[in-house]
Amino acid sequence: MGEHVVEKLRQQLDSLNLQLLELLNKRAELVKELGEVKKKSGVKKFDPERETQMLEKLVQKNQGPFDDQTVRYLFKQIFKASLQLQVDDHKKALLVSRKRQAENTVISFGDLKVGNGSTALIAGPCSVESYEQVYEAAKALKRQGVKLLRGGAFKPRTSPYDFQGLGEEGLKILREVADELDLKVVSEIVTPSDIEKATEYVDVIQIGARNMQNFELLKAAGNVRTPVLLKRGMSATIEEFLFAAEYIVSRGNTQVMLCERGIRTYEKWTRNTLDISAVPILKNESHLPVFVDVTHATGRRDILLPCAKAALAAGADGVMIEVHPNPAVALSDARQQVDIPTFEEFVAELRSSGLFREE
Ligand code: PEP
Ligand code: MN
Repeated sequence: MGEHVVEKLRQQLDSLNLQLLELLNKRAELVKELGEVKKKSGVKKFDPERETQMLEKLVQKNQGPFDDQTVRYLFKQIFKASLQLQVDDHKKALLVSRKRQAENTVISFGDLKVGNGSTALIAGPCSVESYEQVYEAAKALKRQGVKLLRGGAFKPRTSPYDFQGLGEEGLKILREVADELDLKVVSEIVTPSDIEKATEYVDVIQIGARNMQNFELLKAAGNVRTPVLLKRGMSATIEEFLFAAEYIVSRGNTQVMLCERGIRTYEKWTRNTLDISAVPILKNESHLPVFVDVTHATGRRDILLPCAKAALAAGADGVMIEVHPNPAVALSDARQQVDIPTFEEFVAELRSSGLFREE
């Protein structure tokens, strides 16, 4: 007898659960509709005053058995979940998101394709110091079949007293060497008004970690049609990183590559902490190619190879490494750049690791 009553009451509960579910989803649809209207008219999504009013009305009508505090708590959760729905919708709308574009963005540099499932390498000195220095490093790239030559001409240094780069002269050197050896140039630009001019020299505009949220620079990079390598800010969240990419893409420059380069943590045995989990998250959330800069992420030569392997295993489309013909005398990052024999060994080992995907 008792069992029968329990069963009956349970059935009623099940039915009420379903009704509640239906009502909650109906409510959610309405909130979404309201969100759209608010967006169009530029009204803020979260309105604490309105939320308080709704809670007060509910409490006034409350006849129990839930006490007022519980009613407030339960409805607060419903309000929170509804607001989250609007946030998720906003995320869905990002141009850089997979939700918006399911297929990978593939960027072509002649025969070289980035983002198509093959592995790309970007290598070269930290800073451009002379024609001879770049040429020697570039020859090593050529021998290894590496197409993307990096080198900093404008160096955003932490200390104003450190070497700031050769500027436009450095870009000329990179272009000259790259043309001679049929390579592509990746170089950082730090000033919005330099972007246009830089497109005469570079094949990829690099935006450095220190400038990831330099919104005027991002907008300027979005206005040209030269591919961009956007590095993650040293204390930027993945979301902020993607929003920075959105600045560029929303201006019409869809050729953006993301570069994880380590974030700042309390750890002192590496220069930065390589956030390897950012790689699969970025690959899942976004259709843009993802690189990992193992040099700046680690700041130490002895772990470049395992970190590069980890990057590829995690799904990165490419790896960046700094190489200098004579690191000991380099004008920047002398301690972390590898010499040419070490670079050649690095590429060979990565290639034979089974993780490197040739075209
Ligand atoms: C660089 O790649 O030259 C560089 C300065 O790196 P980051 O902006 O990641 O510090
Ligand atoms: Mn460097």
